[in-house]
Amino acid sequence: MLSGTLWPAHPRPLSGEALSSWFIRCAHANGMKAQTFAVRNFGHQRQLWNRDIDRQAPEWLMQTVSQRTGVPLNQVKKMTVLLFEGRLFQCKSLSGPLRWWLPLNMYHRIYRNYGVLYCPQCLEEDAIPYFRLNWRLAFYTFCPKHQIMLHDRCHQCQQPVAFHRVELGKANLLEASSMDHCWNCNSLLSEAPQELVDKWHKRPFTQWEALLNVVDRQFRDCGPLNTARLILWHQMCRLIVSENLAPYLQDYICNIVDQPIRELVKSRKAFEQRDLEERHYVLGLAAWISDVQAERKLHTAIQKRMLPLNQVYRDLRLAEIAELDRILVLPTSKRGGTKKSSQR
Ligand SMILES: [Zn+2]
Ligand SMILES: [Zn+2]
Repeated sequence: MLSGTLWPAHPRPLSGEALSSWFIRCAHANGMKAQTFAVRNFGHQRQLWNRDIDRQAPEWLMQTVSQRTGVPLNQVKKMTVLLFEGRLFQCKSLSGPLRWWLPLNMYHRIYRNYGVLYCPQCLEEDAIPYFRLNWRLAFYTFCPKHQIMLHDRCHQCQQPVAFHRVELGKANLLEASSMDHCWNCNSLLSEAPQELVDKWHKRPFTQWEALLNVVDRQFRDCGPLNTARLILWHQMCRLIVSENLAPYLQDYICNIVDQPIRELVKSRKAFEQRDLEERHYVLGLAAWISDVQAERKLHTAIQKRMLPLNQVYRDLRLAEIAELDRILVLPTSKRGGTKKSSQR
């Protein structure tokens, strides 16, 4: 263990920074590689880099970082997925899929999923480039500040972003690049091409962008979150990417809103495991059908047999169905009662 209560250098967390990003900056500020720094603090027994730190931050990590930096524990917790608990999903499970959270699919410390995203312009403007927690959210596909698409891989070598690996194979820290570099080919991520986001329909994109601003403010001063609409949006994303549950839904929406019908990856992959481009496309279609006119739009889709009614409620908990009931009255629920729960 390092001596003293505080680490010799203890940089403050930057706005919206993810715990993993901050921990690496703390290590570098103390003249150590992240791996060495972790071993010095936690020993060889407690492994840090074999997990998704921002999702599964162990108590011992958060407590130590809090004590050694003087940053209150509750603030440290908000640098992890705990910030979203009770907002974007009900409770954080230890493993398995988590609604809206991009998995890394780790295998021997290598990421097999494109779960870490970045805005090249944000990185470019950072005095010290760092990674935001919100970039790990499945609906955070564009930057509301710069109005450009995020990237989910290195623009040169196409490898997943893994900023904890930038030091690998480098003899000393001075050689190690900043987090703004690709760990594999050393390209600058901030030089990735910038593509303006195409807002092809005003209302859903306005709501979508408002949500991005709400998460950027860490839910401060935003009033109650419309959780029902979030649940519905996620359900529609799931249905659009599934091959079997609502096979006509994508084409149906595309025809109405005049968007191209794209071939989606045929697989049982969860929505959160799909690439940025596919997610962004699907999110747009799903945002359109689940906007403030959702009740009418869903009614029509159900009547035309483009959307099976029971799939709207698929896999939802009773409390979530009750949430949906606040914004939707669909054909059979007009009679009220518990009818819906039997249709899951
Ligand atoms: Zn940006
Ligand atoms: Zn690269």
